[in-house]
Amino acid sequence: MALIVQKYGGTSVGNPERIKNVAKRVAKFHAQGHKMVIVLSAMSGETNRLIALAKEISPAPSPRELDVVISTGEQVTIGLLCMALEEMGVKARSYTGGQVRILTDNAFTKARILDIDGANILRDLDAGSVVVVAGFQGVDDAGNITTLGRGGSDTTGVALAAAIKADECQIYTDVDGVYTTDPRVVPEARKLDTITFEEMLEMASLGSKVLQIRSVEFAGKYKVKLRVLSSFQEEGEGTLITVEEDKNMEQPIISGIAFNRDEAKITVLGVPDKPGIAYQILGPVADANVDVDMIIQNVGHDGTTDFSFTVNRPDYEKAIKILEGVQGHIGARAIEGDRTMAKVSIVGVGMRSHPGVASRMFRTLAEEGINIQMISTSEIKISVAIDEKYLELAVRVLHRAFGLDQA
Ligand code: ASP
Ligand code: MG
Repeated sequence: MALIVQKYGGTSVGNPERIKNVAKRVAKFHAQGHKMVIVLSAMSGETNRLIALAKEISPAPSPRELDVVISTGEQVTIGLLCMALEEMGVKARSYTGGQVRILTDNAFTKARILDIDGANILRDLDAGSVVVVAGFQGVDDAGNITTLGRGGSDTTGVALAAAIKADECQIYTDVDGVYTTDPRVVPEARKLDTITFEEMLEMASLGSKVLQIRSVEFAGKYKVKLRVLSSFQEEGEGTLITVEEDKNMEQPIISGIAFNRDEAKITVLGVPDKPGIAYQILGPVADANVDVDMIIQNVGHDGTTDFSFTVNRPDYEKAIKILEGVQGHIGARAIEGDRTMAKVSIVGVGMRSHPGVASRMFRTLAEEGINIQMISTSEIKISVAIDEKYLELAVRVLHRAFGLDQA
């Protein structure tokens, strides 16, 4: 008998039939004697619909009122699931974030969880009920409704699991686990049985959108056993996200390949090679809330140098404008850019103990004639910026070169 938190995403509760299917699965676990806490998203598309509705009334709605509106989607699904469970003869009680008392700060639309009172939930579980909690929402200390940012139900699930010391937090979604890379790009991509938190963070932040990043950080910090599974398959162990790599197993060097299409590169040419230049270029860019990713400063010649960095493509025009505004002041010769870049990253804790990973990556790309324009590395990741038109090819050849298509 275990204490299990299960979180179901929007597609899993997208219509009454699917809600009944969730109820069946929950009832099965409950009948096996497990204590069940269920966290739900709104029906798929509902949060978008509510945001659009708000924007029809006001182009820039008050964040407090926006949260009042967009938190309602989850209130609908928790009530419906409890009804479905009751129909099957299973006792169930729903809770909004405020009713649990999921206390957050007051940063409306992107609030952070500060504390969760598990008392009501534990009491209901002891009385034999299934507890169903609205994801994505909380309440600040003044009693205002808050929401946790898009995809925030994952974080509710993990935070609740930590608060009530659940044995496992299971995230049910429309994929059956975490893959070595996007199967739409590489059909041979394989589902991973396990991945470490660190790797998952890199994969998630690099655009593999299975889990909200914050939920992974949370699970790592509070050592919540986290598993991603499909709600549309009866069987399957999904992917377990572990705190540490399994020392008994031969680690693969690379666990996965993440990529992001929407990158752009900006180069500031012929800037004086002197202290403070990086700050003068990137300071105004950061002030405008533009995220900068990879950065390269070249070796100087004749007292000047070139400085390149990448930004997300939607920020490209904004960043170019800012730089044109400060070009004279910095003393740069020209500003150039390329808005069709992509980033490919290989991720794996195994590279800590295996030299030669970078050279294998670079050789593989070179053999296909793919030019690497920028490189950045961390302990468990190597990223390269390349022309977007080679993205798919790069992911495919790297997937093969690192043996990811083989079990
Ligand atoms: N319903 C919210 C959203 O669509 C939260 C979630 O589903 O995780 O972002
Ligand atoms: Mg989601």
